[in-house]
Amino acid sequence: SSYHQVLEENRLLYNQVQDLKGTIRVYCRVRPFLPGQGDGESTVDYIGENGNIMIVNPYKQGKDARRVFNFNKVFATNVTQEQIYADTQPLIRSVLDGYNCCIFAYGQTGSGKTYTMSGPDLNTDETWGVNYRALRDLFHISRTRVDFIEYEVGVQMIEIYNEQVRDLLCLLLYTLTTCTLDIRNNSQLNGLNVPDASLVPVKCTEDVLDLMKIGQRNRAVGATALNERSSRSHSILTVHVRGKELVSGSILKGCLHLVDLAGSERVDKSEAVGERLKEAQHINRSLSALGDVIAALAQKSTHIPYRNSKLTQVLQDSLGGHAKTLMFVHINPEVNAIGETISTLKFAERVASIDLGAARSNK
Ligand code: ADP
Repeated sequence: SSYHQVLEENRLLYNQVQDLKGTIRVYCRVRPFLPGQGDGESTVDYIGENGNIMIVNPYKQGKDARRVFNFNKVFATNVTQEQIYADTQPLIRSVLDGYNCCIFAYGQTGSGKTYTMSGPDLNTDETWGVNYRALRDLFHISRTRVDFIEYEVGVQMIEIYNEQVRDLLCLLLYTLTTCTLDIRNNSQLNGLNVPDASLVPVKCTEDVLDLMKIGQRNRAVGATALNERSSRSHSILTVHVRGKELVSGSILKGCLHLVDLAGSERVDKSEAVGERLKEAQHINRSLSALGDVIAALAQKSTHIPYRNSKLTQVLQDSLGGHAKTLMFVHINPEVNAIGETISTLKFAERVASIDLGAARSNK
């Protein structure tokens, strides 16, 4: 029967899940030159088949000018949104099987993080990002299991700005009077690590798309300059899944965090003052806290420093243990971005350190 098919499918997936469990995969995406930038000189010298990328620094000479970085995969500029998403599907299945997963977008402002996560325009379906595609598959897969598992799905959207958590869906009732979705008390889906953030039950991808639009609008509220603010804060879309197995009555709980991180650029200390300096310090601190947590997990440390930032606190249950993590690291190939490109790739290499042992022994 199809119940046995589902069990068999789960058994086959089990190996795939074991592969991913407790590890982090790092994918690097190179942003194309934008219209009007022409075919500028690129700092990407070549992209190898096995997740290698060679960066050339035009300001350096000889052997110091080139450096190779190694990741799980490197995507060239011509890769489509569908191809970017393709490897994410096993993660979505595992959320429905009761695992926690995180997908991060990391990189300097303008390197394409929002493009990967949300897409350039929520009204154009071919360019929808990982967020929408993940939710679409989540609902699709849950429907194929409808005879055996009853799923409830709830969404939260928060922003972390200067170590403060802001609920991006709290204004929902005021902004969308025709909205039929209601905000639930968090306690109805237990085990949440996000304090006081609205949890909205959703039934289909259109509901989520509506929420993403509201979240985007709310993100702009109170921001003096939208672009400025959104690049200085982390935004997290969390999907909570609760499944009840109809035969056994047992409950599965999983969640997926889709995280568009604040821009990773270092701010020149001599230039930044006041608010700008404070923002920069908070961002540096939380991104390095994230790097430290992931590195500690990779080294199987006994102490994992989750408490060092709001970001790592919020994601605590979904980093390490049986959780799975995917990071899309973005680079801007323009020559004037070379400094940030190298520091971004160094950060990513540290995050990918689980695989570095293997990479090193190949050298
Ligand atoms: P970030 O979120 O890192 O600040 P954005 O996602 O806003 O960067 O991207 C900056 C600009 O580059 C936007 O205009 C975006 O549409 C464009 N862009 C980013 N990545 C791509 C891509 N892969 N293909 C085409 N345009 C892109």
